[in-house]
Amino acid sequence: MYAEDELLPISGLQHLSFCERRWALVHIEGQWEDNRFTAEGKLVHERAHSGEVGSLAGVLVRRTIPVRSFELGLVGQTDVVEFHRVDSGGVRIAGQSGQWRPFPIEYKRSRDKVGNAYRIQLCAQALSLEEMMGTTVPEGAVYDSLQRRRHAVAFSPDLRAEVAALAQRMHELHGLRKTPPPRYEKKCDSCSLLPVCLPRALCERSAIEYVAREAADAGKSGGL
Ligand code: SF4
Repeated sequence: MYAEDELLPISGLQHLSFCERRWALVHIEGQWEDNRFTAEGKLVHERAHSGEVGSLAGVLVRRTIPVRSFELGLVGQTDVVEFHRVDSGGVRIAGQSGQWRPFPIEYKRSRDKVGNAYRIQLCAQALSLEEMMGTTVPEGAVYDSLQRRRHAVAFSPDLRAEVAALAQRMHELHGLRKTPPPRYEKKCDSCSLLPVCLPRALCERSAIEYVAREAADAGKSGGL
């Protein structure tokens, strides 16, 4: 169990699942670069957080609910949570009769495919809601705002375990306070931190430095 002042942002899980260096650049060094993808994502998020409360038949809608998990050491907020009326096993809501099951929804831009990073972030919100409300949250959805389409996400045991492992890793890295070195991969081309991270240049530089060091050591020891 983590203490309140040890909680880390749920939003970091998305960065961490993409690249540990990216997480460290954002959450340890405070670097952030907007590219087209992140700028579009921010706009969608602002729209998701622009209203307060709504209701449809058998569904209550709540926006921007603060969430936390002392078990995982995470804190954040949801985009939208629908509460679906259920016969049993749900939670009570002030001013409403009956029981309700939370169904978190994460808003995302459509050009970026709904990959595992979104599922991880959504599942972390679901696990936090479960812990806070003492109920089960079996599924949620990622909403593709341009295609106006929901992608259902089941919070399977594997996904839950992945979130728990990532949360643990995030705390380990946070404890180290050290940014991992860059390693250029194809995914770097779509990373908004590419101009800050400079993976190609830094990898080349460390390779040159490595060769120079090896040569110097060999010279000292009389080797080649
Ligand atoms: S550019 Fe590549 S190595 Fe650097 S943070 Fe992004 S994904 Fe990670």
